[in-house]
Amino acid sequence: MAEKKKKSEPEYIFVEFNTPRKYRWSTGPYVGKMYHEARMNKKLYANQCPKCKKMLWEPQVVCGRCKVETGWKWKELPQRGTVMQYTFIVYPMWDPHYGEKFANPLPNAMIEMDDGTVIRHFLEETDEKKLKEGMRVEAVWKENEEDRGEGTADIKFFRTIDK
Ligand SMILES: [Zn+2]
Repeated sequence: MAEKKKKSEPEYIFVEFNTPRKYRWSTGPYVGKMYHEARMNKKLYANQCPKCKKMLWEPQVVCGRCKVETGWKWKELPQRGTVMQYTFIVYPMWDPHYGEKFANPLPNAMIEMDDGTVIRHFLEETDEKKLKEGMRVEAVWKENEEDRGEGTADIKFFRTIDK
């Protein structure tokens, strides 16, 4: 039995997760196509709603806006886009999952691709003076196919390009 504690002392519960959990899971046909194109061809594919014509990223079976099945109409997304907004956390913060302090080394950004589709990804640029909304960026993919297979994480980051 635990030692008797004063009422004001909090009692913490610690749960350790030391076991690696490697498993396989089915992506389904829609997200599966996106993963396949990223891994095999270094391309991002979105599908299109037949009613509102909006490109759905990530690919969806049903358009959330129109509540209709999307079907199988695909479009390759451009590799370039414009940063709409970014977040760069330079001070270490607590990771609620692992209880460790860390600072994310790369800024996280909302990027409007050149066809208007918005995706979230990391930026290579870490110089705060060079980070700005409206900066033009381009996807940089992991070179080796065996390193790919994680969907959008097959892109290492987005690199700044000239306009
Ligand atoms: Zn729609």
